[in-house]
Order: sequence, then structure tokens, then C-alpha cells
Amino acid sequence: MSSDLSSEPPRAQAAANEPETALETARRQLARAGSQLEITDDVLERLNHPAKVTEVTVPVERDDGSVDVFTGYRAQHDSVRGPYKGGLRFHPDVTRDECVGLSMWMTWKCAVMDLPFGGAKGGVVVDPKSLSEDERERLTRRFTQEIRDVIGPTRDIPAPDMGTDSQAMAWIMDAYSMQQGETIPGVVTGKPPAVGGSYGREEAPGRSVAIITRETCEYYDSPLEDTTVAVQGFGSVGANAARQLEEWGATVVAISDVNGAIYEPDGIDVASIPAHNEEPEAVTGNADDVMPNEELLELDVDVLVPAAVGNVITEANADDIQADLVVEGANGPTTFAADAILAERGIPVVPDILANAGGVTVSYFEWLQDINRRAWSPEEVNAELEAEMVTAWNAVRSEVESRDVSWRDGAYIVALSRISEAHEARGLWP
Ligand code: NAD
Repeated sequence: MSSDLSSEPPRAQAAANEPETALETARRQLARAGSQLEITDDVLERLNHPAKVTEVTVPVERDDGSVDVFTGYRAQHDSVRGPYKGGLRFHPDVTRDECVGLSMWMTWKCAVMDLPFGGAKGGVVVDPKSLSEDERERLTRRFTQEIRDVIGPTRDIPAPDMGTDSQAMAWIMDAYSMQQGETIPGVVTGKPPAVGGSYGREEAPGRSVAIITRETCEYYDSPLEDTTVAVQGFGSVGANAARQLEEWGATVVAISDVNGAIYEPDGIDVASIPAHNEEPEAVTGNADDVMPNEELLELDVDVLVPAAVGNVITEANADDIQADLVVEGANGPTTFAADAILAERGIPVVPDILANAGGVTVSYFEWLQDINRRAWSPEEVNAELEAEMVTAWNAVRSEVESRDVSWRDGAYIVALSRISEAHEARGLWP
């Protein structure tokens, strides 16, 4: 196997290898998972690279009549199991390599959920807050035109990500449809329900975090009624996860926003606190006592759900984490080095590619609804999501038990086995 990573890297090796970019992390995780599987070097090498990266120039007329030029990317990693799928972000830090790394994560995420999609990610290097609503619309429409040849409902289906929202998806659908000469809602997901968006898409990543937390707590004989939870980040993922977990009987003792955390050992009434999209930074806005975000991560709780940003559990604080279980709500909240330390300390970490995969799963439901021209009820969406998440969790649990590996390794093994099998079956053309 062409991997220099053993199955449990010692602390020193992991620390020296602390990842710097999403692409490096994605490649390390691929090598590590590949080393534990019967997978050919040819397939591993193919998965180490994106199938295609499209770079475009996006000229936009500003409201004052001047023209600014932005750079955009669409990285398409692997489509062996179906069309590419992944978000589009508008952010000043977007790079080609970041898009490639994130597109690899999307490949694994779709495969662990057994969705008939491969991974993609894209974006425009721009601070969306520097644009007016009209400028944002012109940028979105022109970017859609520039990448039109590589997207489509059977080719590559974008979705919202940092700095983009359901309105941007509606503009993409409209721009694409106008050029194609027919209405094609299946070209993007995360749209408003009025134009083919799915009910429950917004809540789905948080809901899946709650489902996976519930299943894992039961597995470790800690039913939710006896479980305390700390959630970092009270946005789309964190607030929906916290509210669902509280509804199912867990005691949510700490939540946070970018300015800090609140901690109430007897439990917080999370339903009464506005989420980030309802009122930004409302967690600390009305609080008397605010603790630093770093302290929330080190609380002595049963479950810690980092659901804000990446790289918050690092080599520097992994020894101080006191939770019995970590469920990753954000993408990449645990660094490679911290993962090794938590493993050594016997703290299980359920990975992002499983826990927050409810988002892409309901995106898949949206795509099905668009193709069939028939909307599902909220009850149907939630029932199907529940079934898909429990099926995926069971597939991962089975690898965890039979191979005695971590939850992250189990999830990667499930994903990579499916992708590798598909590559072997299809072969290399020509
Ligand atoms: P959001 O913008 O809705 O909320 C983010 C929350 O985190 C807010 O409460 C904000 O105040 C807080 N926050 C921001 N920066 C912080 C920091 N440095 N420290 C502590 N708190 C901070 O974001 P979201 O959509 O909930 O996404 C959260 C994470 O989940 C991201 O990593 C995202 O990539 C991932 N994710 C999101 C989705 C989705 O569909 N929304 C799906 C899968 C994964």
C-alpha cells in the first residue's frame, strides 16, 4: 500500500504532520483509510487527484457602473458513483486547493451515505458582504454562465455553502434554465420550496447530528435522557442539533456563538434562544455570564458537538477535552494530530462525513423531488432522513466492531470500499 501513515499514528508523528490545508488533510485521510483496505494503488492514486478543476474569470458590473473581475472555481473530484455534488461558497479565502480538498470530502460523504453522487466543491474569491444584493445577483448569474458547461442535473449539482444561500441557488437555477430553454430545478439543491426546494433541507445537517448522537449514545449505553451535551456554534447545524437533542430528552448545558458561550449545568432552554440566522450572536447578546469558546470545549459533559468552524480541537487542547464522546457537527473541527490524541485517550470521535451528512442527504431528496416533479411532505423527508442516517450509522458501526477501528476510520472504510468497488467494476476507459 502506498501510504506512510500507520493505522494509529503516534502522537509525535501526528503532531509533526499537523495538516495545513483541507487538501493535505483530505489526502492524509485517504492514505490512512487506504492503508486499512484491500484497494489497489491505481484506484488510490486516481482518488488522490480531482477529475477536473474549472477556473473561470467572472466580470461583474458594480452599482456605480465600474467593472470588477473575480476568480471562480469548480473542483470535480470523482463521479464513479454518479453526478458530482457539492457546495458553492463566496468567500475571500477560496482557493483552488481548498475546493479540491473539500470536493474529496464530498466524495466520501456521499459514499458513506450510499448516495448516487460523487464529490465537488466550488466558489468565488469574494467577500459577499462587500456586494450589494444586485451585485451578488449579477455575480451569481455570470458565474453560473461561466461554469454552465460543467454543471447540470445529471452532471454536477451545486448547493449552498459559506456566503451563499437559497436565493443564490434560485438565481443559479434561473440562469441555467434560461440558457437551456426549459425550467431545470434539478441543477441545484438548497433552493426555496417555491422553485423546487425541499422541506427540511435547512434543518437537515443539525437533525442528522442529533440522530447520530442519539444512536452513538445508545451504543455506549448512555440514553439521551441521561446525557449532557455542549454545542459549539448556534447556527444552522448547532441550533438544530441542540433543539432536536433537547426534544429527545438530552440536557443541553452549554451553547455558544462567535463571541463566547453560556453554561447552565441544569440545562438551557435552547428552543427559546434565536439561532444565528434568526438573530446573529443572540446566545451571548442577552447573557450576563459569558465564558470563552475554548472553555466550552473543555467542559466535563457526556457529549461535545463542535458545530461552528473547523480546526477547533487541536494538538493544543486535545489533552484537556473532558467529554466522553465527540460528534463533529462542523466540517473538520478536529485536526489530524488531535484525532490521534483523543484516540489515545479513549474518547470516540464520530466524524463529520457521517454526522452532518443529513444536509447532502436531503439535497439528494430535493434532486429526486425535482426530477419527479413531486414534492414530499415534511414528515416524508424526516422519515426518509431518519432511515438513511440509521442505515449509514449501522454500516459504520459494523466496520468499527469488526475491524476494531475508530469511528472516523470506520466511516472512511465504508466510503472508500464503495468507491473502490465502483472503480473496479467500471474499469478505466479507454
Ligand atoms: P452558521 O453560520 O449558521 O452558524 C455558525 C455559528 O458558529 C454561529 O453561531 C456563529 O456565531 C458561530 N461561530 C462562528 N465563528 C466561530 C468561532 N470562530 N468560534 C465559535 N463560534 C463561531 O453556520 P452553519 O451552517 O451552522 O455551519 C457550521 C459548520 O457546519 C461549518 O463548518 C459548516 O461547513 C458545517 N456544515 C454546514 C452545513 C449546512 O448545510 N449548513 C452542512 C454540513 C456542514
